[in-house]
Amino acid sequence: MSSKSLKPIIIAIDGYSSTGKSTMAKALAQKIGYRYVDTGAMYRAVTLLAMQNGFIAADGSVDETSLIAALPATTIDFAVTPAGQRTLLNGSDVEAQIRGMEVSAHVSTIAAIAAVRRDLVDRQRAYGEQKGIVMDGRDIGTTVFPSAELKIFVNAPAAVRATRRFKELTAQGRQTTYEEVLANVEHRDLIDTTRAESPLRRAADAIDLDNSLMTIDEQNDWLIAQYEKAAGRD
Ligand code: C5P
Repeated sequence: MSSKSLKPIIIAIDGYSSTGKSTMAKALAQKIGYRYVDTGAMYRAVTLLAMQNGFIAADGSVDETSLIAALPATTIDFAVTPAGQRTLLNGSDVEAQIRGMEVSAHVSTIAAIAAVRRDLVDRQRAYGEQKGIVMDGRDIGTTVFPSAELKIFVNAPAAVRATRRFKELTAQGRQTTYEEVLANVEHRDLIDTTRAESPLRRAADAIDLDNSLMTIDEQNDWLIAQYEKAAGRD
């Protein structure tokens, strides 16, 4: 089927931390000429903003009032460069900083703040107005775009996810241990699934994908087939 004959849709890819959602969402968007929005990067950028401004105390508690007051004047954008998509916080490229363990350690706490979620969900919905978008996160199919034409829910055992993430971080030259990465993955899973405001949950009409035993190519082919089915429907 040629992608030209397909109608533009919204594709929501949700799932647990480090399931490779972003990698597959990015590859799909590139292949079908869609815009890719990494909502995890948006929560990470707000976390970095909080860190830079001293809104996170040494004990991990957050000055929510100051953070929420800072949001309206904060811009978060994505720039497409030869080095891939980069996240811009108030115009500065923060891609490397938002991927570090320090941001990872605080991001789920920041993402559990209801006013932060409302602000970012509004920004995410604006991206989807024209359709033709692949968005990945935790609540895209349930809260951001409940009527998305295609919803995928990705999962794999925590140990598989931590191994992948550990390899990725060490390949980037970052100092960490497998145990630290596994603890972070499990910690984020717990906060993401138990928070009051749009917790991570599978949408009733989502298609499940356990990619533990799939190669990247198999995964990409599977996803394209799902897209063609969803976008071909009247
Ligand atoms: O996708 P990624 O792991 O980069 O997301 C970082 C964190 O942001 C997640 O652990 C989760 O706490 C939060 N998040 C969220 N809702 C989204 C995307 C990410 O709560 N839609």
